[in-house]
Amino acid sequence: MEITVIGHWGGYPKAGEASSGYLLTHNGFKLLIDCGSAVLSQLQMYIKPEELDAVIISHYHADHIADIGVLHHALLISKYVSGYNRNLPIYGHSNDQESFTALTYKDITSGIAYNKDVDLHIGPFQIEFLQTKHPVACFAMRITCEGKTLVYTADTSYFEELVEFSKNADVLLAESNFYKGMDGASAGHMTSEEAGKLAHKANVEKLVLTHLPHFGELNQLTEEAAENFKGKIVLASKGLNMSL
Ligand SMILES: [Zn+2]
Ligand SMILES: [Zn+2]
Repeated sequence: MEITVIGHWGGYPKAGEASSGYLLTHNGFKLLIDCGSAVLSQLQMYIKPEELDAVIISHYHADHIADIGVLHHALLISKYVSGYNRNLPIYGHSNDQESFTALTYKDITSGIAYNKDVDLHIGPFQIEFLQTKHPVACFAMRITCEGKTLVYTADTSYFEELVEFSKNADVLLAESNFYKGMDGASAGHMTSEEAGKLAHKANVEKLVLTHLPHFGELNQLTEEAAENFKGKIVLASKGLNMSL
């Protein structure tokens, strides 16, 4: 499978970039993971919105779902302009009924509830879930495809179950919204130090730091994570593309 970083900022997008959004593809199947602010704009650097086969949402904070409404509009306009005739599945949890219901739009998209206790199959991807530690219900995803594994922590503070969940992943896409020594936990986020600790304990192949803060020197995040993890560490950036 191949992953392209569409957006990687925590909270809101930096000018000309986007908050959380990742495009996962395999054999032509296109899955968008999270659809935050400015994701629809950045996504069009790579594909047309109507080429998406499915969308999956980790949780209903604005920096992960802000562009769902404009995705609806893009597909509706495409229906009238170029005959788009699909119904795009948007997977989300239904712990928050109002937000879940808003995923469905006319005959254009359908919200589909996932169950954290049941593996989900979307196209070529098998997805397991783990509820994270965050102010609202949020789910990390362990995505397997042809023997390769991507783990996306979504938004979370550090907790020990993440280690087993991330075990031996080829790529760990871990949020690092704070620097070493800061209190990430009270906001429901991890520090660079914790992301490195998680990568080390889970014995992953590569650590990608994402959901980045809008302050400080970002390269410091990599250095701090490297104090705990001796494998490859990459800072997420717009358009970063990885095959696994
Ligand atoms: Zn977030
Ligand atoms: Zn959040």
